[in-house]
Amino acid sequence: MRAQPLPLSLYVHLPWCLRKCPYCDFNSHAWRGALRELPEARYLDALQADLEAALPKVWGRTVSTVFIGGGTPSLFSAEAIDRLLATIRARLRLAPGAEVTMEANPGTFEAQRFAAYAQAGVTRLSIGVQSFDDDRLRALGRVHDARQARAAIEEAARSFASFNIDLMYALPGQTLQGLRDDLASALAFAPPHLSLYHLTVEPDTAFAKHPPPLPDDELSADMLALLGQALGAAGFERYEVSAWAQPGARCRHNLNYWEFGDYLGIGAGAHGKLSFHDRIVREARLRQPQRYIDAALGAGAIEDERIVGCDELPFEFMLNALRLTDGVPAASFVERTGLAPAAIARTCAQAVERGLLEDDPTRIRATPLGLRFLNDLLAMFLKSEHRH
Ligand code: SF4
Repeated sequence: MRAQPLPLSLYVHLPWCLRKCPYCDFNSHAWRGALRELPEARYLDALQADLEAALPKVWGRTVSTVFIGGGTPSLFSAEAIDRLLATIRARLRLAPGAEVTMEANPGTFEAQRFAAYAQAGVTRLSIGVQSFDDDRLRALGRVHDARQARAAIEEAARSFASFNIDLMYALPGQTLQGLRDDLASALAFAPPHLSLYHLTVEPDTAFAKHPPPLPDDELSADMLALLGQALGAAGFERYEVSAWAQPGARCRHNLNYWEFGDYLGIGAGAHGKLSFHDRIVREARLRQPQRYIDAALGAGAIEDERIVGCDELPFEFMLNALRLTDGVPAASFVERTGLAPAAIARTCAQAVERGLLEDDPTRIRATPLGLRFLNDLLAMFLKSEHRH
């Protein structure tokens, strides 16, 4: 039983991109028509209906963060984002100073919109740069080049107090020097936050069918070590597997996921997790944008809704919490899952013995070894000890 409702976030999915990147396994769909034909207004109608249908589940709760993700949300006009945020504000209570993040890609026509997004109420921009090397960007199938990336970051730095640059490493043909150059380019803009993703080939992507030549494990490990050195020296803290921030600039929205807070997800393919006094529910919306729109404006867009079983909760909790380099307070396991500490006690002891979990009764936290072999550590929690 929970005395207090958990912190609540809102995720909004805008599903279209100019084209599909060959490594991408997100729910993103290439928009093949002219941009002015993007069905912005209808999609916003659908989001509004989706949100209204969900309101009874989050009645009276305050939303502490909003994240507009995609796809490429910056394909939407500033007027559309303004309407979206007005729709949200009129129906949900946003906490004072709520963080409102939006993802953007560095096409120049979008960068010109950044100031207007800020005016609409976006407080934080996350820019999908990936690399400053045109050859790498081409290998990743990105639609922008390094010059556009720089222009977009400059514009973001002018318009937003807080912004994030997404970079990828272990890219096709990338050398250690290439990564060093990418980092230097990013750091020149003094970003408050950096996300650094190791390129992985996911199933059902174009890269899975035609794998590019990738750096081997040794070079990848050297790259991670380089990241640690360069970003540490620049004052960044690695607070999650892929997230680095200057003090005070951590992404509150993502922290809420990793701390196993609640979130409502609206939009095509969006996922939500909501806790009630007696159960935790996960829900997913229809993925295909047109089907989502029709369903949201009709009988409802939820495709899947299920109670998370007690035997799944330890793994689900750890899957998030152990990504954080500081881990979480031990008490939050009970608070956020509703389970007794005994549900994980034996597995935690085994993980401590194997050197994967810190031996600290007040925190649940992976050791550096545990972070490196996170999948092995997580697998230990797949089989729960919980018994009814
Ligand atoms: S821009 Fe982002 S969401 Fe869109 S296809 Fe590329 S990686 Fe996926």
